[in-house]
Amino acid sequence: MFRRALIALLACLATASCCAQESGAAPAPIRFLLSFDDGPSGDRVNNSTEQVLDVLAHNGVQPGIKAIFFIQTNAARGGGTEIGKKLMRREQEEGHLLEFHTATPHHSDYCNLSDEELESSLRDGVAELTAVKGVPPTIVRPPFWHYDARTLAAYRKHGLRVLLTDLNANDGKIWGVNFSFHKHSNMLNQLTDLRSRWQAGELPVVDGSTPIVVTFHDVNTYTSNHVEVYLKILLDVAKELNMPTAPTPFYDERGALERAATAKTVKEGEVRPRLPGIWNWLWQ
Ligand SMILES: [Zn+2]
Repeated sequence: MFRRALIALLACLATASCCAQESGAAPAPIRFLLSFDDGPSGDRVNNSTEQVLDVLAHNGVQPGIKAIFFIQTNAARGGGTEIGKKLMRREQEEGHLLEFHTATPHHSDYCNLSDEELESSLRDGVAELTAVKGVPPTIVRPPFWHYDARTLAAYRKHGLRVLLTDLNANDGKIWGVNFSFHKHSNMLNQLTDLRSRWQAGELPVVDGSTPIVVTFHDVNTYTSNHVEVYLKILLDVAKELNMPTAPTPFYDERGALERAATAKTVKEGEVRPRLPGIWNWLWQ
């Protein structure tokens, strides 16, 4: 009796999912846009940024992945050091996209800077990144995901658009959720939340795919030791959720990466987009 009911239920579910797929055009396949915040690391030995770059270039999932690095150009133990500057040049030479995070000695909340501090910090950061890239940066990820009308206007004045994220590895601030099981369930939960919007065609489509922004921290040695694990997890959860990925599931070319990232930036007058995890709650 129970078995028959179970079979009937499964058949019903199969029909429902089949019909859901048949109704309307299939949404564009997803493509993971990897981003790394807070770097580069200035460490002399076991440099985590170096390790991230090595694994993005050579791994068993998709060699030659290109990512966005949201740089802290003057971080006292990172971008402000000789080792950090050298890594910024390496990121540029290897085809990654360098964009702005901070230009202060520490991870400052830009909403707390005075008008003068804000102005000079943005001027410095844009100049430093321009020197490495050859062109000015156009994207900013606000530290702590925190921005307001004043900082948004200052960013715009310096040609910077705000990029938030779809998925967050939570590897920057929240410690203790780093076991493999949590890494998987964390990504699965966040992608599940996004899935209905993807199915409804609400997410931007660029060059035939739906970019899904994922955030890590390259100064975190745990992250740098597990980049390949994360790559596999992202493909696994996409499969589990029946979300087909693009033929090359991770971005592999700077131009395409930049077009996709730009399409995902916060639009003028847009209501504050939803952030994964605790951030939405924190800034409300
Ligand atoms: Zn940060």
